[in-house]
Amino acid sequence: MSSSVVVAIDGPSGSGKSSTSRGVAAALGLRYLDTGAMFRAITWWMLEHGVDVSDARAVAKLAGQPSLESGTDPLSPSIAIDGRDALAAIRTPKVTAAVSQVSAVPEVRARMLELQRSIIGSGGIVVEGRDIGSVVVPEAQVKVFLTADPSARAVRRAAEEGGSDHAATQESLLERDRIDSTRQASPLIMVEGARHIDTTAYTLDQVIDLIIDLVRASEDESP
Ligand code: C5P
Repeated sequence: MSSSVVVAIDGPSGSGKSSTSRGVAAALGLRYLDTGAMFRAITWWMLEHGVDVSDARAVAKLAGQPSLESGTDPLSPSIAIDGRDALAAIRTPKVTAAVSQVSAVPEVRARMLELQRSIIGSGGIVVEGRDIGSVVVPEAQVKVFLTADPSARAVRRAAEEGGSDHAATQESLLERDRIDSTRQASPLIMVEGARHIDTTAYTLDQVIDLIIDLVRASEDESP
């Protein structure tokens, strides 16, 4: 596998992006970057610092302040902000409810973009998010857009969250989709050239295999 390949995997939450991206990276010996975890970490930091996340100006003012370290091992994800391990804290409902508001602030996106590009460097990585194929790495050799039925997405997310209420999980997913897709800065869109995979009817391993095939085909095509 070429050490410079970039595999961009975008899509709404619960579409299977994280498990799929980690699986593809592990199978191909590539690094892995979860950009959603970065937006979640800065959101957690804002909440911990008493910032009113509905106040975009207050969020923008502090966007450059914390240091952020994202691990890239697909078998052992890690994220720390200002030196504090944030892996568990970023998955709490409080962070999930606030993250789309924080992510819509252009200064936050600019900061994350700079960090993401420096981690991606010269490639050899699977990157998951909302704007990877459109903004972060438009030149990525492989672009995938994953979707699934809202109901299937809510079932997966509720299971990940330890069996939380299905209807409430679905409502929260759809609200985040709405904010993420309609924001001014880097909205969630499927770019031209992306391969759309609706994962509803597939197993995780089937989706991973499909993407591995796309990566191999792109390597065959490259000069
Ligand atoms: O992927 P995950 O659900 O953890 O992402 C959390 C939130 O982070 C998304 O709902 C979105 O608001 C934001 N995000 C983003 N751009 C990315 C990745 C995530 O705006 N590239």
